[in-house]
Amino acid sequence: MLTAAELAERGVGVTVLEKDDVGFEQSGRSVAAINLPGGRPNPEASLLRVSADEWSTFEQRWGHGIDLNDAGWYIVLVDDHDREWLEVERGTWQDTAGYPDAELLDAVDARTRFPQFGGTFSAIDVRHGGHVDAMMVMNALRQIAQRLNIDVRCGEMATGFEIKGDRVVSVRTTTGSLLSEHVLVAAGLWSPDLCRQLGLRIPMQRVRAPAVETGPMPPGTIPGFLRGSTFGARQNRNGTIRITGGYRYSAMLHDLSLNDFRDMRIWAPALWQNRKDVSLRLDPTILRHELSSRLRSMFARNGNVVVPQRYEPKARPSDRYSQLAELARLVPSLRTSRIQRYFSGVMDLLPDLQPILGRIPDISNAFIASGFSGHGYMNGPGACKAMAELITNGTSLIGLEPYRPDRLRGRMKMREQIF
Ligand SMILES: Cc1cc2nc3c(=O)[nH]c(=O)nc-3n(C[C@H](O)[C@H](O)[C@H](O)COP(=O)(O)OP(=O)(O)OC[C@H]3O[C@@H](n4cnc5c(N)ncnc54)[C@H](O)[C@@H]3O)c2cc1C
Repeated sequence: MLTAAELAERGVGVTVLEKDDVGFEQSGRSVAAINLPGGRPNPEASLLRVSADEWSTFEQRWGHGIDLNDAGWYIVLVDDHDREWLEVERGTWQDTAGYPDAELLDAVDARTRFPQFGGTFSAIDVRHGGHVDAMMVMNALRQIAQRLNIDVRCGEMATGFEIKGDRVVSVRTTTGSLLSEHVLVAAGLWSPDLCRQLGLRIPMQRVRAPAVETGPMPPGTIPGFLRGSTFGARQNRNGTIRITGGYRYSAMLHDLSLNDFRDMRIWAPALWQNRKDVSLRLDPTILRHELSSRLRSMFARNGNVVVPQRYEPKARPSDRYSQLAELARLVPSLRTSRIQRYFSGVMDLLPDLQPILGRIPDISNAFIASGFSGHGYMNGPGACKAMAELITNGTSLIGLEPYRPDRLRGRMKMREQIF
């Protein structure tokens, strides 16, 4: 939707095919924590730097509120294992964040700054960042699309492509077909299904991240985006607190898929290394989808892709009881709070945890922006701007080398820290 807006601002007519509603999958369920400007900009990390700049000016540029919270990121360290984790993670942050400066507060300074904190901790790592409200962002994008005359077709699924030579000439959909000069695949969890038809194999894993929300708490209960080794938390505008997994113990649920067996060589070492943190499950919806799409590709002539619609991944309040209890150790006012809402979102992880942004190899007019690996808000506005530049000018001012689609054809190695 944001790429469509960037393109429409450059005078391009755009149609968006959305099989459900805008934001029904990852983007509407996100914690939406982002890096924001402050301190020294990182010249090497143009994607995240532009994204941080764009978020900080989104409300002025596009004219819609997104409840930007710029109160910072706070990473709570308790023991030596947390410090070891931080050592490794800080290296990645220095290389990749748009504004990577960080400050380490010792426990005494942290308690002065945050009198609401109790419990035992040794230090807090402070960064430039915050969060936005994912549902407000989705609402803003819908209204921007309307103003820019973007044809958004909710409920219409892209099912395949007509290809002549090295060009996509039309996109098949559940209601017909659409002639197009350029095509951008931005289908989140289901981009691998569509890209297979374009000759690009994506070794993606789908990982389920449960989230819960407490009842409303007084403003300032949680500063910015708070990360502990066992929990992640942010406070919403209505006072509720959204809780997810932590940086060392994310408690992710992995719904086994047939693709896992195909890409086992890449993922097995990482799954083994994180075996205490990832629970393997079976989800009948995913398995049914994979079996039927395999049968269809074997027997159907047009080879249409059909992916699940209104897919609601399983969730239970108990998925995050222990994270709420851990958070309440640090923020004692939460001890009596209750979980009042629970849901899950599924993330699209790639082995190197970098998105795929660029032209699809061997197809001259098809592009992809996908595989954001749990960081689509952090990278999003820069990625959308880069795609619009690439489609209209053939090149982008934002460095896209690390994200090029043809890297998937080489040997891929898992990153040491998954989350
Ligand atoms: C619980 C959770 C917490 C997160 N927290 C953070 C965070 O704190 N910070 C951060 O940066 N990122 C976070 N993320 C990740 C971030 O939300 C995603 O990376 C981002 O939203 C991905 O956007 P997308 O547009 O690529 O995919 P999506 O938002 O999933 O959009 C893809 C859309 O394509 C549609 N679609 C798929 N196939 C078809 C088809 N064949 N035809 C038509 N339509 C189709 C889908 O219905 C969907 O609406 C989180 C994600 C989750 C689930």
